[in-house]
Amino acid sequence: MAQKTRIAVTPGDGIGPEVVAEAVHCLETLRKRHDLPMEWTRFPWPSHAWHEENGESMPADALDQLKSYDAILLGALGDPGPVDDPDRYLLPDSISLAPLLDMRKGFDQWVCERPARLLPGARQYLADERAKDIDMLVIRENSEGEYVSQGGRLRKGAPDEVATQMEVFTRRATDRIIRYGFEQARLRAAARAEEGRTRHFRTLDGKTCESQVCIVTKRNALRYWGDMYTEAFEEMAKQYPDVATHHELVDAACMKFVQAPWAFDVVVASNLQGDILTDLAAVLSGGMGVAPSCNLNPDENGMPSMFEPTHGSAPDIAGQGLADPTAMLFTTARMLEWLGRKDPAVAAAGRELFDAVAADLAENAGKSRGTQEIGAAVRERL
Ligand code: ATP
Ligand code: MG
Repeated sequence: MAQKTRIAVTPGDGIGPEVVAEAVHCLETLRKRHDLPMEWTRFPWPSHAWHEENGESMPADALDQLKSYDAILLGALGDPGPVDDPDRYLLPDSISLAPLLDMRKGFDQWVCERPARLLPGARQYLADERAKDIDMLVIRENSEGEYVSQGGRLRKGAPDEVATQMEVFTRRATDRIIRYGFEQARLRAAARAEEGRTRHFRTLDGKTCESQVCIVTKRNALRYWGDMYTEAFEEMAKQYPDVATHHELVDAACMKFVQAPWAFDVVVASNLQGDILTDLAAVLSGGMGVAPSCNLNPDENGMPSMFEPTHGSAPDIAGQGLADPTAMLFTTARMLEWLGRKDPAVAAAGRELFDAVAADLAENAGKSRGTQEIGAAVRERL
């Protein structure tokens, strides 16, 4: 019998607990139905309450508590407090996104995957009818780059103050994220072939490939990083002659995400540029309510990967039962698929959950439904 899969559930702040509750109900349904060897433990840690009590966003030993789990299912972190508090956006430093960054770093979750596919029933923001062909995977480098937190403020508060913010890019992290992008491109082409929906991408020398990797830089202005990234990409591409390659500057990429997003397959971007591009991609795929995300450590070294929707704590709608749990449920499906690398029954449950959420979306397009109503409708299908 397969080993028991253990999941740490951290609902977090704002709408986090509301959408996580629906995810856990679905996990329970799947576990019962398929007798899955799977268990989960809840870690409440709402960052606001924890901050008031301890001046921290999470317990000091949070990573130690989480590290033995196979995966972390996270709602959202970052609700600055009650909506009627005028100071709610004046966050103390320690209650920023620090715990998220600590987790990504502490568990070396160096891949952030954000698929953007306009599924039937999802809100279509672009009028062009080709929008229904939007199906891309944005892969964000998650371990370094603009998020290394190096720099400082010189002559703080003075009129001649200077702030510096360093970016650090290593060849090792660059190579591994680019390789990951090419591997995903191959996997996606294979999965499409299986579903009988082949796509074609032209290479510069006129060849046709069934998948594509586009890297995003700002090479014309940020030269050192841009050049290293481009060289690493071209070098790696030699090992993947079956995958078409493409290069965009980040400003042009933003334009093309709106103009012709259906032309992209896999997109590899830096930590900050990937963050920005994925909010844009989330909207292209139907909005924050449906956009899944995950932070992966693909190294098979026992450290847990973390699964959270693209959206945050959404304080504007928190506590009202209005949040769409679809993003969280797609995220949960991806978690099961990931955990299913070791147990095919768990992977099958992930596919079942994905199909149920997608079918629910297709059937209820445009209806206004509450969090629990959507959760119940999905469970009904399982
Ligand atoms: P945070 O600082 O935690 O990221 P935020 O204020 O940036 O919070 P987000 O959660 O990123 O808010 O949401 C941005 C917008 O999208 C908000 O207006 C929110 O209401 C909407 N939104 C986010 N998630 C959902 C959801 N699951 N269902 C419906 N609307 C959502
Ligand atoms: Mg946000």
